[in-house]
Amino acid sequence: MLDFTYKKYNQIVESISRSGYQVLTIGDYIKMGAEKPEKFIIIRHDVDLDADYQVKFAELENRFGIHTSYYFRCTDKIYKEDTISKVHKLGHEVGYHYEVITKAKGDPVKAIDIFKDEIDRFQTNWKSETICPHGGSFVDNADGYALKDIIKLIPKLLSKKSVFSNWSNFNLWEKHDYKEFGIIGDAYESVDFKDILYLSDTGRSWDSKYKRLDKVDSLINPKFNVKKSNDIIKIIENGEANKIYLLVHLEQWKDNLWDWFLWYVAQVIRRSGKKFIFKMKGK
Ligand SMILES: [Zn+2]
Repeated sequence: MLDFTYKKYNQIVESISRSGYQVLTIGDYIKMGAEKPEKFIIIRHDVDLDADYQVKFAELENRFGIHTSYYFRCTDKIYKEDTISKVHKLGHEVGYHYEVITKAKGDPVKAIDIFKDEIDRFQTNWKSETICPHGGSFVDNADGYALKDIIKLIPKLLSKKSVFSNWSNFNLWEKHDYKEFGIIGDAYESVDFKDILYLSDTGRSWDSKYKRLDKVDSLINPKFNVKKSNDIIKIIENGEANKIYLLVHLEQWKDNLWDWFLWYVAQVIRRSGKKFIFKMKGK
């Protein structure tokens, strides 16, 4: 049985719907303040590559009565108002996945101007209240997730040029406060991860050994050894952790075996490429 398929995601959602966990969006979590339920799950989707691909998953969650948080990048390929509206109408939270420092090539003044313009679109169309920084950006606007994009990056890797941008989009808030823009919170900064089990599918793996930047300060994580989606289903069914936060990039959950395989090969290259880059940088 393959992991990271639509069927497997269906099983996760089904197990949540049968469980005693309440599903919270990031917005719910922030607004609840101290009044949070004892057992909850947050499901966050970062939409990095393909807006249309989200719809069937958004429908699936809706059928189980589950509402999650979708963060869309504001790029030509991803910012599709009709598609985002479909996801929003299914009852999900729509948030802004910003990458303005990368877009402004590190210029903080330009970055905040871009932020103002883009957040305005999200607020006007879907009443967005929360934001989430996009990480792991590649230089030259290459996505570097799919195999064909990674192949394009190989000459650069070999010439030892960095393919990841050095700007962190979160640095925008060193001099500004997102609350000035009517934002109530950020999907990382506004969450207290200490007592939350944080699980991310970055690199198509739940295994923490593949996460270099995608980490949080959790006291719960060291108590669990999650490698497969079935491990998560078991934790949910047995109620082993009270608070769970799942980061799911739905583009990597494939149905078709060939697509699944291509994505797998791309992630293996990406993981080893990252290892190689971090090694060179001495991290
Ligand atoms: Zn992202």
